[in-house]
Amino acid sequence: MQNVLIIDRVSEKFLKELVKRGFNVEYRAGLERRDLLEIINKYNILIFRGRLKIDREVISAGEKLRVLARYGVGLDNVDVEYAIKRGVAVVNAPNASCVSVAELTIGFMIIVLRNLYEYISLVKLGKWPKGSFIGRELYGKTIGIVGFGRIGSRVARYAKAFGMNILVHDVRNVSRDVEELGGRQVDFEELLKQSDVVTIHVPLTPLTYHMIDYYELSLMKDGAVIINTSRGEVVNARALIKHIDRLGGVALDVLEQEPPRDNLYHQLISHPKVIVTPHIGAETIESMDRIADELLHNILDAVKWL
Ligand code: NAD
Repeated sequence: MQNVLIIDRVSEKFLKELVKRGFNVEYRAGLERRDLLEIINKYNILIFRGRLKIDREVISAGEKLRVLARYGVGLDNVDVEYAIKRGVAVVNAPNASCVSVAELTIGFMIIVLRNLYEYISLVKLGKWPKGSFIGRELYGKTIGIVGFGRIGSRVARYAKAFGMNILVHDVRNVSRDVEELGGRQVDFEELLKQSDVVTIHVPLTPLTYHMIDYYELSLMKDGAVIINTSRGEVVNARALIKHIDRLGGVALDVLEQEPPRDNLYHQLISHPKVIVTPHIGAETIESMDRIADELLHNILDAVKWL
């Protein structure tokens, strides 16, 4: 029997399915790193989200560990290379949340371009500020999509439906797929210079860390909007604050520090042109169900080879 340790919140259904399939499950949501290091040597499968770093120390402490299962998409908190070297399989649920994150991106664009946040807050305060914040349409605007993978390509399809012009930057050659949508694959600088909305959909890697920094922001048009639903580290928050007055708005679902503690993030969050949500891109009923199903399928696939 495989011993499974779950260290973050997962769905009830997922827990039940694991038990039904004969796994011996220990559910310790919120377990601290030091406690994890103490007990991990008893388990064959570790299920986790993005909260703790699953690094060399954790992986080597898990002497019987055979599968690392990320309940979600991002593997940036996992030393995948080291795990594979030690013969530990790494699985995740990469497809489950694409629709939810892409829809959130479109929602962000409309909220920012129509100043909905200001209107809604003021009406709640009993005001009626009609005419105070004249908005902009998506139609005819240029969206610059950085990263044309599962989420970025879906954002492109939705943006096309709104009549937006599509520019894409990706390290892979995706020009054929982009052209099918009537868009163009361009280099990063051209995308930054031409776009009315820049939206980020790359994974966090050494190459994408602070990919949007002072220089990149300086290339963007006055009034352009920036959206990040990927990973906080991709955008330098200090640089954003420096350029905020020139920008049309910023919408972030992710921050380099989550939850934010440093004053830098409070300065950013409280700025009237910035909206921040607490990393909720995948938090829909549908996406959570799909994560559970996809991850279970991938865990069962991985244990077949043990
Ligand atoms: P994906 O792997 O399908 O696509 C990423 C794309 O980025 C690929 O096409 C890749 O070639 C491209 N890319 C990689 N490095 C690049 C670089 N240096 N320059 C340009 N392009 C580069 O990823 P995805 O599933 O679409 O996820 C995108 C991002 O969204 C990830 O960071 C993921 O962690 C994040 N995400 C966030 C949430 C959330 O809750 N906000 C939920 C799911 C995913």
